[in-house]
Amino acid sequence: MNATSEWAAGEAARRRTFAVISHPDAGKSTLTEALALHAHAITSAGAVHGKSGRRGVASDWMEMEKARGISVTSAVLQFAYRDCVLNLLDTPGHADFSEDTYRVLAAVDCAVMLIDAAKGLEEQTRKLFDVCRHRGIPVITFINKWDRPGREALELLDEIEREFRLKPTPVNWPVGTAGYLRGLVDVREPEWMLRYTRTPGGAHEASEEAVPAERAAFEEGADWEQAVEELQLLEADGAQFDRGSFLAGGSTPVFFGAAVSNIGVRLLLDAIVDLAPPPGPRELEGGGSRPVDAPFSGLVFKVQANMDPAHRDRIAFLRVCSGVFERGATVTRAASGKPFATKYAHSVFGQDRSMVDTAYPGDVVGLVNAAALRVGDTLYYGPPALFPPMPTFAPEHFAVVRPVDISRSKQFRRGIAQLDEEGVVQVLVSDARGEQAPVLAAVGPMQFDVVSARMAGEFSAAVRLEVLPYHLARATDAAGADMLNRSQLVKGEALTRIRDKAQLALFPDRWQANSFQRQFPDASLGTLLAAH
Ligand code: GDP
Repeated sequence: MNATSEWAAGEAARRRTFAVISHPDAGKSTLTEALALHAHAITSAGAVHGKSGRRGVASDWMEMEKARGISVTSAVLQFAYRDCVLNLLDTPGHADFSEDTYRVLAAVDCAVMLIDAAKGLEEQTRKLFDVCRHRGIPVITFINKWDRPGREALELLDEIEREFRLKPTPVNWPVGTAGYLRGLVDVREPEWMLRYTRTPGGAHEASEEAVPAERAAFEEGADWEQAVEELQLLEADGAQFDRGSFLAGGSTPVFFGAAVSNIGVRLLLDAIVDLAPPPGPRELEGGGSRPVDAPFSGLVFKVQANMDPAHRDRIAFLRVCSGVFERGATVTRAASGKPFATKYAHSVFGQDRSMVDTAYPGDVVGLVNAAALRVGDTLYYGPPALFPPMPTFAPEHFAVVRPVDISRSKQFRRGIAQLDEEGVVQVLVSDARGEQAPVLAAVGPMQFDVVSARMAGEFSAAVRLEVLPYHLARATDAAGADMLNRSQLVKGEALTRIRDKAQLALFPDRWQANSFQRQFPDASLGTLLAAH
């Protein structure tokens, strides 16, 4: 092993790169802030979230972001905790839920699944969990808002086990029901109860006191007894944390807490350091893998074009997969074999960019002169590497796109082709619709807004969108597509996705899809990734 590979391996071992997956309002921003508060934030990329009244830098990356007050750009927050460096990648939610949200998961080694104690598993959590499962990303669960009334702890565990086929293994356990939280027990140290007191004066951080079990029994009475009984029940049920099954996606360590009062947040941070895997070898297209101590390689998981015409640059978010990234080095873009200069590498995005000189496996770097880069690209130095292509996800929103001014159809076609290639949106075509009226397919409707704004601003080809009444896409083949397009009885349509030539059968809902399948039992209908 030479000095550089040893250096890379050592730094990789200290990295934990993760994302929080949750449904809007479960408390992701609050938890992110609480994590950053506990740890020492080194850099914050973009923003924690640009919501008003929040700490965090609202990104000026795109005009649209300003108008909506939300962050379209995936933010990356890097902080030091204990002897580790944590990289927290934001997964945009709400209206900006899009393919980018899923793609972020290609760049993490672990996910924290955040659940609202009163609501349990919700739609976006399910979708994001599906992607984690598909990609083999281990999941740590944090059940939030235990400071206010919610469901029972055992019932929430049941739901996770039943619906996700994921064995919940609690690492801490609440004393007192939701809304009446007396403290937490770290199941590895059941002789103590952790009691949280909010600091007077409305300070954010709650102080933590370890109360001996005997005193907890005396002071908390029935609540303590119930917690002890439940812990025994869980132990009998074999719900102990098991590293092997956690890493293999068979179980999830579970934490209870309240992000808003910082309750349970330290235990979660410790778990990220102790349980989450550091960056490991990454699979290569065509077999084999690239170990972290190999020469530099990285994966572009998101490309953000600046919509502000004043400075029209483009930033590619690169996750370092192996070796040491050094700014200034010329690397190779695997797709073209061409050199790429890393002179303009930033660690921080949005208003607050700063140069990054070195980065290690697990870190995220923003490359600013990124016009040549595409989502899914591999960059490498030394021996060639090529990572598998980024999967496409099941779209749920569809719209026909047409040029407003027919005389600009050349610009229109060029713009649509480029946005498709960049992965901004999926583009579907059919002979029946013709090339002046392709269908845009998106995971989130905001992807359409990005297309409209960029077509007008960047390609001088303003577009008109006509939303189609479809919400479900299934994979089919040429025969299935033919049956669907001929059928007079079923509401639906089959189109070809330009990117991979896949045949997609579109339906308004599941019932129409089922009715089509009943009428044409021979037609092939498969699920697309992250489809429901
Ligand atoms: P996000 O949409 O997932 O980013 O959720 P936010 O962090 O914006 O939180 C949504 C709402 O839940 C806000 O009003 C928060 O103050 C509140 N919230 C977040 N965490 C907690 C918690 O632990 N307890 C309580 N009671 N409220 C919380």
